[in-house]
Amino acid sequence: MKLISTRDPSREGRSYAEVLLAGLAPDGGLYVPESYPQLSIQDLRALKGLAYTEVAFAVKKRLVGDSIPESTLKSLIMQAFSSHVFDAEDGNVTPVSKIGEGLYLQNLSLGPTASFKDMALQLLSREMEQQLEARDEKLFILGATSGDTGSAAEAGVKGLARIKLCMLSPEKGMSDFQKAQMGELSGGNIFNISIRGRFDDCQDLVKAVKRDPAFADLGAVNSINWGRISAQVAYYVSGYLQVASDIGEPIDFCVPSGNFGNAFSGYVAKRMGLPIRRIIIATNENDVLDRLFKTGVYEARGAQVTSSPSMDISKASNYERLFFDVSGNDAETTAAYMDAFSKNGTVDMRDFGLDTSAFAERGFVSASSTHADRIATIKQTYESSGQIIDPHTADAVFVGSHMKTDVPLVCLETALPVKFEETIKEALGFVPPRPPRFADLQEDGEPAGFSVLDTDVETLKGFLRNVA
Ligand SMILES: *Cc1c(COP(=O)(O)O)cnc(C)c1O
Repeated sequence: MKLISTRDPSREGRSYAEVLLAGLAPDGGLYVPESYPQLSIQDLRALKGLAYTEVAFAVKKRLVGDSIPESTLKSLIMQAFSSHVFDAEDGNVTPVSKIGEGLYLQNLSLGPTASFKDMALQLLSREMEQQLEARDEKLFILGATSGDTGSAAEAGVKGLARIKLCMLSPEKGMSDFQKAQMGELSGGNIFNISIRGRFDDCQDLVKAVKRDPAFADLGAVNSINWGRISAQVAYYVSGYLQVASDIGEPIDFCVPSGNFGNAFSGYVAKRMGLPIRRIIIATNENDVLDRLFKTGVYEARGAQVTSSPSMDISKASNYERLFFDVSGNDAETTAAYMDAFSKNGTVDMRDFGLDTSAFAERGFVSASSTHADRIATIKQTYESSGQIIDPHTADAVFVGSHMKTDVPLVCLETALPVKFEETIKEALGFVPPRPPRFADLQEDGEPAGFSVLDTDVETLKGFLRNVA
């Protein structure tokens, strides 16, 4: 099991353990498997009815190869998805429920911070700590967040001996609940910095600090990390096993997408042999991906603020992994294509001899939704099924309901509604009930636990030198 960079023509292979701590490849590319390990129909039959941890282990060991001993991997998975961490009854960490005829919802937000990002970050953080221990090293991670990544990464890393994590977030833009979640995790090995600026400023600061050789060893936990993508494959398998009446029958998934990490994990599952027919990409008003899949033109546009804020992106970083696949694993073409995109802010695959039909051939279709669609969908889903869905999930349910055919369709639920009370109130007239595990969260007044800094690289470097 080797991983290669999407931009390295020499195709030098690295092990899972190596890329785990690296994030980006040295050439700026993203790591992808050299070839995809397989799950046969027999393998899938054997997994039906087993606990999530068993499914996750079967999937992950194929993706990790021999770079982490199986017994170690198993124990990390058992810890990450235990009942102390996930609020799951009877070991079903990602339960599926029916919300319409042939229409299902798979809940991915039973983790400590109530978004699907816990599914990857609870495991990734443990794998990182284990690798650092094996090498007797320490890691300082610097990241930027506009919402769910921050708290999920912090909850994963909190209390680990070998990792320190510093998260930058914009002073304004996150929900009060999200701020309070992060603030509560501050202290010990977790540092929260509120930047007097926007999310883009936070990201630029991270990049600027990393360009300084003195900070070259900083780690990353953003969704381009292969550890995150590979940890998300298992819930597609689990969702499939819960929905397919006959193992082998095709089903569709609908994925609310931003940076395309979640959806690419679904594609990995498909490439490993899971009978997924279509992966339906649902975007909000920031429809970079929807335009791409329809026209073949990948064009960045300034992100606008919407009521599904975790999908407010101007480009979809993980798409590079799909392009590499579409190009026939051609690193030279991928590097040239991504170079054209970063120079011009737009790139057309047809200029690289590739046809837009390549997406549909791989099962990708897409559509987008608006604020009004989300509000109507939250209301309608509540009235017809009694379930309160969050605005991101509503993007998926809206798009999924319109694109459904005769095969079963699973919409992925990516956050709990409690994180986005205002929008739920607008849709339903009341705020969603708060799960008991968040009863004590204090979100009134100024958020505690944040150091507030100006958008200034030198000030940030000074802060980092102090706490490193
Ligand atoms: C991060 C996030 C998304 C987008 O996921 P990608 O992997 O970036 O496509 C969607 N919904 C919620 C609630 C999120 O936190």
